[in-house]
Amino acid sequence: MSGMREWYESKVAEVLIDQATLQRRVVELGEQITADYEGLPLTVVVVMQGALFFAADLVRAVDAPLKMIPIQASSYHGGKASRGSVVLSGIDDFSLSDLVDRHVVLVDDVLDTGRTLRRLIDYFTCEIQVASIGVAVLLRKPTRREAGFEVDLRYCGFDVADEFVVGYGLDYQGEYRNLPFIAVLNQEVTK
Ligand code: 5GP
Ligand code: MG
Repeated sequence: MSGMREWYESKVAEVLIDQATLQRRVVELGEQITADYEGLPLTVVVVMQGALFFAADLVRAVDAPLKMIPIQASSYHGGKASRGSVVLSGIDDFSLSDLVDRHVVLVDDVLDTGRTLRRLIDYFTCEIQVASIGVAVLLRKPTRREAGFEVDLRYCGFDVADEFVVGYGLDYQGEYRNLPFIAVLNQEVTK
């Protein structure tokens, strides 16, 4: 563990949410989901990769049978026409047909502008006849929601300021996902 500690101490400016606080809150959210979906067929859809750790802990805090499937969502900011559009992939036909008439909880890491989750919600409600859809995010950024991309959150872990954060599954250029807490990086790392 000492190699890890030295490595992150040189990169991390501030620990925003420590490991124990994360675990406590995730257990609370799991208990809420257990109560809300009692007796209903539940599928947890995990937005990869960032929500992987959150979802893994969350489903283990749900005391009920459920199914779990991954989905990928990528934003494209290239050409003007496609600016901010979100492309979905990684979900196979079998998983899709298996979602019909099931209650879906979509799990993502961060709600920022709302574009990613809005795209996913529209997809699951318009293109598949799911029974219901609820959204769980670990972190909500309060300032950057865009008009037309409102998202109704059923489960929210923490409100954070509009800063770039890493850890507990969240990355910067592929690194830092295995930090057991949510942190802000030193400015030298991200500049
Ligand atoms: P939105 O579509 O709501 O603008 O963007 C949400 C996505 O942007 C999240 O699912 C996440 O992948 C990424 N994101 C937003 N803020 C952060 C952050 O502070 N750190 C990391 N690592 N990813 C972020
Ligand atoms: Mg994401």
